[in-house]
Amino acid sequence: MFDYQAPPQALAKRTILVTGAGDGIGRAAAICFATLGATVILVGRSTEKLEAVYDDIVERNLPTPAIYPCDLSRSKEEDYSEMATILENEFGKLDGLLHNASILGERTPISQYEASTWDNVMQVNVNAAFMMTQALLPLLEASKDASIVFTSSGVGTQGKAYWGAYSVSKFATEGMAQILAAELENISSIRVNIINPGATRTNMRAKAYPGEDPVSNPTPEDIMPVYQYLMGPDSQGTTGQRFDAQALSGPF
Ligand code: NAP
Repeated sequence: MFDYQAPPQALAKRTILVTGAGDGIGRAAAICFATLGATVILVGRSTEKLEAVYDDIVERNLPTPAIYPCDLSRSKEEDYSEMATILENEFGKLDGLLHNASILGERTPISQYEASTWDNVMQVNVNAAFMMTQALLPLLEASKDASIVFTSSGVGTQGKAYWGAYSVSKFATEGMAQILAAELENISSIRVNIINPGATRTNMRAKAYPGEDPVSNPTPEDIMPVYQYLMGPDSQGTTGQRFDAQALSGPF
């Protein structure tokens, strides 16, 4: 596992938005950031799941989070502009943006891939992250030390049979993160990096590998060290890099 432990309150006074915060890795990241003192904005499509995470954070006496229900498969440019306006009025700045929400789509050959599923995967995994990032950049610029993290996958750098739109969407995510990092490097203090979580015990992993014993994979909580590192001040100046959450050492 990536070797890092943030000091207590490392994320105090930071406001961090997490997409897909209702379940899996996003849920663990939101709770982890709150535990380190951050105010987290919980974005996801299921209000019920977001409320459960909200309650969990409040019960632990951590900074009160915010809930922002948003279905990334339907949201359009104007919805992200509205999101930016609401967050600006409420928080004034954004110190962290974790693009975590994704869908798997179908595990099927390209020759049989449904075009509508392809569109939906690209919409949620790529287009939504593009539109949200663009709308929120001014708020991220208002922080002296903002961090954007994109989530990729092992199939984001190496195509594998039957991974279809999911794999293509992760290649696109890697490209988007590299381009944005290069564009911001000399003109902004915003850093942009990529995490490859590796096999992790979530609903998505169970759907992709139904025959696998879930206990053979680490939990979302186990892979949090690299998330803590990239959202906190210790990663200032680190940009355009790809991190394996489960690697024994730092970025390749
Ligand atoms: P997960 O358990 O399926 O959680 C995904 C989250 O995204 C859920 O909260 C889900 O909401 C949300 N989401 C899906 N579609 C959405 C939409 N249209 N609008 C808003 N939110 C939406 O997946 P995970 O395993 O935690 O994956 C998190 C990230 O890690 C993804 O980017 C995934 O590609 C990446 N990853 C995971 C693994 C792994 O082994 N788990 C490996 C490599 C990469 P609902 O709960 O309502 O469905």
